[in-house]
Amino acid sequence: MILIDGKKISLELQSEIAQEVKDLISKGKKQPHLAAILVGDDPASQTYVSSKVKACENVGFKSTLVQFEANVSEHQLLSKIEELNNNDDIDGYIVQLPLPRHISEQKIIEGIKPSKDVDGFHPINVGRLVLNLPTYVSATPFGIVTLLERYNIPTEGKHCVVIGRSNIVGSPMSILMAKNTNLANCTVTLCHSKTKDLKEHTLQADIIIAAIGRPNFVTADMVKEGAVVIDVGINRVDDDTKKSGFKLVGDVQFEEVSKKAGYITPVPGGVGPMTIASLLKNTLIAAKKEF
Ligand code: NAP
Repeated sequence: MILIDGKKISLELQSEIAQEVKDLISKGKKQPHLAAILVGDDPASQTYVSSKVKACENVGFKSTLVQFEANVSEHQLLSKIEELNNNDDIDGYIVQLPLPRHISEQKIIEGIKPSKDVDGFHPINVGRLVLNLPTYVSATPFGIVTLLERYNIPTEGKHCVVIGRSNIVGSPMSILMAKNTNLANCTVTLCHSKTKDLKEHTLQADIIIAAIGRPNFVTADMVKEGAVVIDVGINRVDDDTKKSGFKLVGDVQFEEVSKKAGYITPVPGGVGPMTIASLLKNTLIAAKKEF
């Protein structure tokens, strides 16, 4: 079994991005600038956003954090979005999800100018992905494809089973893996909570991508010998031995599945760091106005 080290690859990507930033600046171009909007005080969202801001510092980007109380109105948020859309110094920005229930996530996402939507969530960018046009690929699927590429894991003609069909992970992931590109070209099965006999599907998979949000859901009896197992899940489970009172586990039962898998990503240290690196990559693309 080969452990896929997302932290290491993420650091490699960050140092490549940092070099590109230096090159841009030496040519007299401006420093890339990423903004993030954070609403409320959800601890997980705060952690994610502060990691993203810190990663900006690592690669030499400028970053701006815009924070709102949980009771901010949809109208106020849309006004801020309009402001960011019109601020030429900001190359790209994200709105950290989830948002409080009184705010329509869809309305907010549709308010983001597609050329600044570095999370790749806007319907125009999702449509461009489907049509194989240059776009911002949402950060988690982009990070996973990059991991497969950097580990030289063959994908062409392989059977990839994606578990989970969310707009931010499972659905774009399945589209990406089915594409006629040298990073994909898989036959894809997309499974979800209504899939009958999930195990029957996963046992046929050369590549399993688990994005479910349930701790230790994928067990060894669901995995074919030698399969590539990508664990997207980030789940908090109680752990009295930790100061925080919890630990993070994935959607895959790592101990037992790692004995059967050919390749596997750990949690933490697998897909998570790649999501951040891919967001930086998208911001660089935005700053360079590549499309
Ligand atoms: P989500 O929106 O809750 O979607 C979960 C998906 O799992 C849904 O499509 C659901 O099916 C499916 N599902 C639930 N129970 C199932 C079952 N018993 N069998 C088969 N499918 C089942 O979650 P998400 O936003 O995609 O996130 C998934 C996980 O990834 C979470 O742990 C999240 O924290 C993590 N995540 C990690 C990163 C990262 O950077 N590593 C980034 C984003 C998310 P239905 O559609 O039928 O309900």
